[in-house]
Amino acid sequence: MENKEYQVLLYYQYVTIDDPEQFAKDHLAFCNELGLLGRVLVAEEGINGTVSGTVEATEAYMKAMHDDERFAEMPFKVDAAEGHTFKKMHVRHRPELVTLRLEDNHNPNDITGEHLEPKEWYEQMQREDTIILDARNDYEYDLGHFRGAIRPDIETFKELPDWVRENKHMFEGKKVLTYCTGGIRCEKFSGWLMKEGFDVAQLKGGITTYGKDPEVKGELWDGQMFVFDERLTVPVNQVEHTIVGEDYFTGEPCERFVNCGNPECDRRMMMTEENEHKYMRSCSHECRTHDNNRYVNEYNLSEEDVQARLSQIEQESHV
Ligand SMILES: [Zn+2]
Repeated sequence: MENKEYQVLLYYQYVTIDDPEQFAKDHLAFCNELGLLGRVLVAEEGINGTVSGTVEATEAYMKAMHDDERFAEMPFKVDAAEGHTFKKMHVRHRPELVTLRLEDNHNPNDITGEHLEPKEWYEQMQREDTIILDARNDYEYDLGHFRGAIRPDIETFKELPDWVRENKHMFEGKKVLTYCTGGIRCEKFSGWLMKEGFDVAQLKGGITTYGKDPEVKGELWDGQMFVFDERLTVPVNQVEHTIVGEDYFTGEPCERFVNCGNPECDRRMMMTEENEHKYMRSCSHECRTHDNNRYVNEYNLSEEDVQARLSQIEQESHV
C-alpha cells in the first residue's frame, strides 16, 4: 500500500533579506530542528528552496514562514512523497538566486513578464502568434516539455540570454511564452526579455503548478518533468503520458537518468539499465577510461573486465 506521510515543498520569494549570511545560518538551524532535508538558497534578493520532511514538519515549516511578514504571501508547491527526497540539509548564501550572468542585473519585483494562470497559458499556447520558449537546461527539455516548445541549443540556463540574442528573428512579432519548473527562473528571465523589447508572458507557478491544476490537468505536456531531488522525474500530464525521453546511445524511449561515470564529466543522460552496464555508465571512450570512473569503482571491475567491455563496444560500433 502506498504510504505517503512525507511532503516535498518547492518555493521562492523575491524579497529583501537584510543579512542573508546570518539568515542562512539561522535558517539551517531551524530546518535541522524540524528534521527537514533539502536545499535552500538565500540571497539579499530573496529565498529559493526545496525541502522534504514529514507532513507535520513541512506543515510547521510553512506556517513559520508565513508568520514572517517577508514571506507571508509565499506560495508553496506541495507534493506527497513516501519518504525524504534529499539526503542532506543545506542552506547556502549566494549573491543571486538564479544565475543568468546578466551584465545588468535587475530585480523581478521591478520588471518581470505577465503571469499567466494555467488555464490562460493553455489557451495562449495554442494561438498562432505565439512562440513557446523552454527556459531550462537541455536534459530537462529532453525528458519532457510543452508540445511545440523551442529547445534552445544550450547546455545550461545561464547561456540563454546569448542564445536569444543570436536567434532574435525567431521571436519577432510573436508573443513569447516562457516556462520553467517552479517559475523562479522565468521571473528573472522574462524581465530580461522585456528589457530586450520582446512581448513576454510566463507560466505562473511553473510546470509544477500546471500539472496539478484541476482544470488543465497538465495537458499539452509531453513526457515527464525533471526535478532536482532524488526522485529525478515526476509526471505532469494527468490525461496522457507520452514518452519523449531517449536513451543517450540508442535513442530508444527512456526516462531513466544517470550521471556519467567520469566524475569530472558528470554529464546527466537518460540511459536504459542495459546500456548503463554495457557502456559503463559513461558518455564517451575518454570517460569510460578515466582513472577514477565511478562505475568501474562501484562494480570493482578489473583491468581485464574493463578491456573486455571496451572491445565489445568497439566491435559493435563496426557492425
Ligand atoms: Zn562523460
